[in-house]
Amino acid sequence: MACKTSRKLLRLMGRGATNLPGKIANRICPDLLRHLAKDVHVIAVTGTNGKTTTSRMIEQILKDNGYDYFCNKSGANLLNGVTAEFADNATIGGKPKHAWALVECDEAAFKKVGEYSDPEYVVVTNVFRDQLDRYGEVMATLDNIKIGIGHSKRAVVCLNADCSLTASIAEEIDNEILFYGVNTPIYKERVHEASDAPYCIHCKHEYVYDYITYGHLGKYRCEHCGYHRPDPDVFVTKVLVTDESHSEIEIDMGDGAVTKAAIHLPGGYNIYNGISAMCLAKALGLRTEQAVDCLSNFEVGFGRMEAFQLGQATTRMILIKNPAGCNQVLNFLSNLSEQSVFVILLNDNFADGRDISWIWDVDFETLTRIEDKLDAVYVSGIRAYDMATRLKYSGIDKDKLCVIEDYGKLLDTIAAQDKPVYIMPTYTAMMDLRALVSKRYGYKNFWE
Ligand SMILES: [Zn+2]
Repeated sequence: MACKTSRKLLRLMGRGATNLPGKIANRICPDLLRHLAKDVHVIAVTGTNGKTTTSRMIEQILKDNGYDYFCNKSGANLLNGVTAEFADNATIGGKPKHAWALVECDEAAFKKVGEYSDPEYVVVTNVFRDQLDRYGEVMATLDNIKIGIGHSKRAVVCLNADCSLTASIAEEIDNEILFYGVNTPIYKERVHEASDAPYCIHCKHEYVYDYITYGHLGKYRCEHCGYHRPDPDVFVTKVLVTDESHSEIEIDMGDGAVTKAAIHLPGGYNIYNGISAMCLAKALGLRTEQAVDCLSNFEVGFGRMEAFQLGQATTRMILIKNPAGCNQVLNFLSNLSEQSVFVILLNDNFADGRDISWIWDVDFETLTRIEDKLDAVYVSGIRAYDMATRLKYSGIDKDKLCVIEDYGKLLDTIAAQDKPVYIMPTYTAMMDLRALVSKRYGYKNFWE
């Protein structure tokens, strides 16, 4: 009741109310989620990058196949946010209103959420280095996920075969496991990225790769101890096209039949999100056509390449939050064929990560290779000058760099562009800018 009432009140006040109601409720009953999730079939999605897009793709599968479900939509992926969502989707007496729950869960919060919600299905997207001050190193992230799965005894677990860290979870659990992967390189030309996991997780010798798809993902093996990429159960056999609007791929759901699928989102990393959702579909027992058709049409997740028309400018907003994710965005942008304008917003609030040193691990140098297609780079956010400094070091022509601190002025500048504008904010910068966009241009608030 406390949860429901506070959420209603906060929403009346025009607030998103994604976390506070859950915080209040968990204060009263610390394991409330355990009670609320008891009679619900839970699908949990966790991992460093791609959680939101993967969840939205899975949602499309559930919707198209007639599942009665609810999900945590607005990026409330910590224990309080998840609890609030379950409370919202239960009666005052705590009885669930829906049979299924699709839960996107932060890796650190998965320890508790995994324990309390006892999921039947768990999808792990990947493990990358995230904001150091919040999550510690990749091994700590991996441990959090392992602990969460340890609590999910009955779960069928979908793991990324191409991520040497994620795949290693299989060795420590007794759960039924399905692996997914990409059996081919994705990009013809790859941005050179620093690997978050160059050395064998078991014996610390350097991995040998047959191919790398991006970051540390690919077909790896350790020639010293023999640890290697497991053969995936669901996989991409071919990448036919990957451009600024979509990818076309061929998928084998493990039955030897190859099916064509389209992913209407740019960027090779979305191919991974797609194949992980297909893996979950297989775990659910869906037929190939029931799953693959769903991929072709779904709404884009909040902040993960959302399109807006601002004044005369066609803009896309892409959340950036860690080196691997940001490199993927740059990888995508460096393949653009038209003149464009970039906007980067760097904040250092808690939700962004207080430590912004990660921007020095991002390969912004790649932008110099497409400089002729780059009209201007506008920089804003609390740490705008740090970002501008980083870009200056990358070698970008300083006449193309411009810091605009005021978001109002920034939006004016964006709205006056006659070229596509790509806006890359960190999390809280996105929330602030998104609020101003809603106010000025009447776009929906994110929780609607
Ligand atoms: Zn080894």
